[in-house]
Amino acid sequence: MTKCLRQSDYMKLTVFYFVKRLLLTYLPFNRKAIMKSINSICIYCGSSSGRLEAYGEVGCALAKALVSRNIRLVYDGAGIGIMGRVADEVLKLGGQAIGVIPKALAHKEVAHKNLTQLHVTESMHERKMLMAELSDGFIALPGGIGTLEELFEIWTWAQLGFHNKPCGLLNVEGYYDSLIVFLDHVLAEQFVKKEQRDLLIVETNPEVLLDRYANYQAPVVRKWVGNDEI
Ligand code: AMP
Repeated sequence: MTKCLRQSDYMKLTVFYFVKRLLLTYLPFNRKAIMKSINSICIYCGSSSGRLEAYGEVGCALAKALVSRNIRLVYDGAGIGIMGRVADEVLKLGGQAIGVIPKALAHKEVAHKNLTQLHVTESMHERKMLMAELSDGFIALPGGIGTLEELFEIWTWAQLGFHNKPCGLLNVEGYYDSLIVFLDHVLAEQFVKKEQRDLLIVETNPEVLLDRYANYQAPVVRKWVGNDEI
């Protein structure tokens, strides 16, 4: 089923998102106490298949783990690369796969034809916002620049307190080893605090990662100092 977002839908989504953001920022509750149930997970992964078969295989293992837990897949909506493989596996196993694709990429990325639902957005920004809204957590599999960009964006939103959902990656065959080393360097050089670094959950096994998401309690992370601390 294909659904095009109208301008008014986008406005409603934007207003909802910013009201929620304001509430999250200013309401005097302790974010540590929040534990959300996980009904849908957003997967970021390559529009290519990559060099190793293992990259796609772990995508299928993740698809199986999602379906067995009755968790919906939310993803970029393409029918190609690891993305397409994960969606195919979810659908084959009887799960739900929701795609979100910008109009301009629907052809280039070869939008998947058989998804449970396909949202077609006006822009890339709308795509990312809708994917974030539709999901209770985010996982990156191996992928290229688009995957990295999406992962870093959602991680920075967590760091800023725009959402309190778990973010992580599946480090298949050491694909993300060098990135993890670099992130520890960023920590050592004091450009990120330990609690911000720890927001990114790293595992090699999909079931273990999903268990951690199921028990996730968003930590209180403060990126900015208060006026009284200056
Ligand atoms: P890649 O990992 O480069 O194969 O891309 C994976 C997905 O990321 C594709 O569906 C892209 O549309 C998406 N993507 C999201 N944001 C961007 C961006 N800023 N540049 C390129 N691709 C992006």
